[in-house]
Amino acid sequence: MTNQPLRLLIVGAHPDDADYHAGGLAALYRESGHVVKMVSLTNGDAGHQTERGPELARRRRSEATAAGAVIGASYDVFENPDGELQPTLENRRLVIRLIRSFRPDLLLTHRPNDYHPDHRYTSTLVCDAAYMVTVPAIVPDAPHLPANPVIAYLPDHFEKPYPFRPDVGIDVGRVMDRIVDMLHCHESQFYEWLPYNGGFLDEVPRDEAARRQWLAARTRSRLRAATERFGASAADVYGASPGKRVEYLEAFEACEYGAPLDAAARRRLFGWLPSS
Ligand SMILES: [Zn+2]
Repeated sequence: MTNQPLRLLIVGAHPDDADYHAGGLAALYRESGHVVKMVSLTNGDAGHQTERGPELARRRRSEATAAGAVIGASYDVFENPDGELQPTLENRRLVIRLIRSFRPDLLLTHRPNDYHPDHRYTSTLVCDAAYMVTVPAIVPDAPHLPANPVIAYLPDHFEKPYPFRPDVGIDVGRVMDRIVDMLHCHESQFYEWLPYNGGFLDEVPRDEAARRQWLAARTRSRLRAATERFGASAADVYGASPGKRVEYLEAFEACEYGAPLDAAARRRLFGWLPSS
């Protein structure tokens, strides 16, 4: 174990996926002085009921930047059009360059089975880049890595071909407010598009403080449900206070294409997490 800060890279499809699924772990990493980068492989320019195109992409980029700033993390938004991400060789090279330049210890992304094509192809691109980041002849102008990072999947609800199987659980109770602060930055999503798309736009309070409270309640209930769903099955829960019940959980599933999430890797990546 060295004193070098750890490096966490979260690659989502859209500018809100990274913090939505792993904002708690990101906040805990930052709290302990580690380095975090969140990435969206698309520009999010289709995620709204009335806005679209470059104007929406600009809005979402600035929302993502603000969300990253909440915890002192960078949030990069790539130029691929929303809803049209393709697992092309060009995009694979882009992801290889991203991983090589950031040199993550831990890399999180979507699972390959997911309702949204952009999520699926983001996963495909990361998995396809995984081993290639160590091959010098591939993208030769970007220095290759000596080894794969540990790669893990963000949670979802899909059952086929097999349900999300948590390997690691993180008690995120102590950073609940930071998670909500981050999501609150994505105004176009959590107060506009997602409620419109889900048919509950009339439930969103107009007042700024009231709607933050509304979002906090929704976020708490989502992470409480994750505790119920995954709590007992997460192989290990890190950051939990001894003797205290875990209330809010983020869970991740190891991806076999990354470095093994063995006992040493677990200690290095999660063993030091401050307790809630
Ligand atoms: Zn998404």
